[in-house]
Amino acid sequence: MSEAESKTPAESEPEALRRLIGDAPREVPILPMRASVLFPRALIPVTIGRAPSLEAIKDAMSRDRIVAVFMQRDPATEAPGAGDLHEVGTLALIIKMIRADEDNVHALVQGITRCRLDGITSAEPFLRGEVTPLADEAASEPADPEVSALAQEALAQLERLLTIMPELPRDVLEVARGLPSPAHLADFLASLVELDADERQALLAEGSTGVRLRRLLPALERQIHVLVVGKEIREEVKKSFDDRQRQAILREQLEAIQRQLGEDEGGKRELEELRARLAAAGLPDEARKEADRELGRLARIPPQSNEHSVIRTYLEWLADLPWSVSTEDETDLARARTILDEDHSGLEAIKERILEFLAIRTLRSDARTPILCLSGPPGTGKTSLGRSIARALGRNFVRQSMGGVHDEAEIRGHRRTYVGAMPGKLIQALRRAGSNNPVILLDEVDKVGRDSRGDPTAALLEVLDPEQNRNFVDHYLGVAFDLSRVFFICTVNVLEQVPPPLRDRMEVIELSGYTEREKLAIARQHLLPRVIADNAADALGLTMRDEAIQRVIRGYTREAGLRTLERRLASLVRKTAKALAEGIDAPREIDAARVRELLGPDRYLDQDIPRIDEPGGALGLAWTPVGGEVLVIEAAGMPGHKGFILTGQLGDVMKESATAALTYLRSHAESLGIDPERFARTEIHLHVPAGAIPKDGPSAGTAICTALASLFTGRLPTPGVAMTGEITLKGRVLPVGGIKEKVLGAHRAGLRMVLLPRDNAGDLEELPAEVRESMEIRLCGRMEEVLQHSLMPAEPAG
Ligand code: ADP
Repeated sequence: MSEAESKTPAESEPEALRRLIGDAPREVPILPMRASVLFPRALIPVTIGRAPSLEAIKDAMSRDRIVAVFMQRDPATEAPGAGDLHEVGTLALIIKMIRADEDNVHALVQGITRCRLDGITSAEPFLRGEVTPLADEAASEPADPEVSALAQEALAQLERLLTIMPELPRDVLEVARGLPSPAHLADFLASLVELDADERQALLAEGSTGVRLRRLLPALERQIHVLVVGKEIREEVKKSFDDRQRQAILREQLEAIQRQLGEDEGGKRELEELRARLAAAGLPDEARKEADRELGRLARIPPQSNEHSVIRTYLEWLADLPWSVSTEDETDLARARTILDEDHSGLEAIKERILEFLAIRTLRSDARTPILCLSGPPGTGKTSLGRSIARALGRNFVRQSMGGVHDEAEIRGHRRTYVGAMPGKLIQALRRAGSNNPVILLDEVDKVGRDSRGDPTAALLEVLDPEQNRNFVDHYLGVAFDLSRVFFICTVNVLEQVPPPLRDRMEVIELSGYTEREKLAIARQHLLPRVIADNAADALGLTMRDEAIQRVIRGYTREAGLRTLERRLASLVRKTAKALAEGIDAPREIDAARVRELLGPDRYLDQDIPRIDEPGGALGLAWTPVGGEVLVIEAAGMPGHKGFILTGQLGDVMKESATAALTYLRSHAESLGIDPERFARTEIHLHVPAGAIPKDGPSAGTAICTALASLFTGRLPTPGVAMTGEITLKGRVLPVGGIKEKVLGAHRAGLRMVLLPRDNAGDLEELPAEVRESMEIRLCGRMEEVLQHSLMPAEPAG
């Protein structure tokens, strides 16, 4: 419909047409409409597809162009008859007809007046009917004030509608206002407001203007409401979208600005703080440069990023390390002695050696001094000696455990490119120390393992070597830290397990287990006062009798050192303090009976002295990392000729000892009163219980030989006698290691005699007088001497 024809005056003046038509019934072509209603004076386009309708239009066009438009009751009806149309319709003028294509015609029709269908006059080839124009009441009646008011209201509503529907032209309001009557207004609004077809038809059929307006007002209201809500929703959606977009843009701009300025406010402060800390840390040149570079990167990288925190952590490590913090050394050896004495009872020889070591160190401070290594069972005072040395030197002290270090990176750190990278243990220890010349006690160096992840020993060697450790580079730090001023002390339980290159650098001081008397003295002088202080029990006036401490040592501990004893004493003090705090009238002096009450039944007392009731056993002595131990060696014989079955912790060396022992016995069978034939007929099962880590495999030789001799002679082993020593095929007894610990172990176990190789005589000096006094120690050069003491005399025959 692109044609734009100018309107004729008649077309623009439906009022004139109305007058022309008059009120008389007339016969006209009828145009059925499926679902639309034409209101008087309204102008609508209609599409005509049905053939009869087309004929009707053509007929009208050939005459006065007047048709009657009626809506069908059911839009689906194809060929409506009289009963299928609503009774009220509209007389209309066809203003224009345009053929769209073969089947369809568009027509522009203008309503003139309501009309009533009086009847169909013909149905072929199109509907014709008689209609009566209906009077327009408004035109005839004077305006009802109520109707006027309704009209005013309707106009007001229309105005509101127009403000929220800017797509409607403003002059709609002008037109509405200029309409001559409320009836006109009602029809005008009826075609403007959104209504469904049935509502429209009802409005068309309604004769009263007031009623029509009344129905239109809520519809208007509804439409306004829908539009307002719709608009609100649209605006809200738009606003939230805008807000998000706005925020995103702002954030982007902010970040750009931050990048330009180098950080946000908080971040900037942080950066400044870090910069100041780094400046105060007194970094050496190399580290200084690295720090500056990383600071620069930190400023450029957004704080939310992961890399930012990685760099920050790194810089904090740099800032926290004691690059230029050192303590003033005390060089007064007399003072050092006082401190060592204050902190430790006994250990005279050890203290002496430590003082010598310190003296040499102070004399030639840059000479390549060996590394001090304290070796001995747990709880014998290695850590506390290290601490005392630090105190004596006026240096800070840190203990760094090395036990279970398998990976070189644990010592040297992980490169920063690894996720969660950390500096190695040395740098960690230094940060804790807070000075660059502390005493660092590397604990359990013998438990540093070697495996596929690299050899930590090499790294450890470098750390401990004064020639190399000046430029120690931790992988994480990436810059050198001078370790040469650190005083390293290593501790080990088993010196033999320290890799030889490392062992060679060490000045080893061996500590051994304590005797009961020493333990008692240490408990009294050091442990008890300390646990009382640690448990804030000073004011309670707690005391402990010697018998009570002895009871704890014998019944509740079984160790070379003092760790368990210290824990048990602490437990006694805590329990007593707690009871007193709860108002229970607990004795303030702890005696042996009270120990039992508080700690429960003895754990070790009864099993102390190992006993053997049958021939075929012997007590050996073993060295273990936690001190000397007594072990029961058992031999059993049964018919057979497979020789030996060996079980328990038996290495090859111990098997050889067993074979040597047997050979000795066979060659001395006669003098021992053994039927030589028995060896051929007997299969021997030899068992050495687990739990003893052999320090030197062959040292059980004399004990194994005793057990076998006992088995074959039927003589019982002498109770309370234990032995150690290697034997040769010819029966010579050779010296072995770990004598002191072994004898102390036998002493702890309450044995009365130990049989040692003659060539170990020198070791006896190391034994505390208390032990030598309370135990018989026999030195034997030959196996016959051993057997003399280790086996009971043969039962007189018969
Ligand atoms: P280690 O490091 O050898 O395992 P510790 O140094 O931890 O042993 O000693 C265990 C406890 O025994 C500590 O409380 C320590 O002070 C104390 N101790 C060990 N030996 C002595 C001693 N000779 N004099 C005083 N206290 C000692």
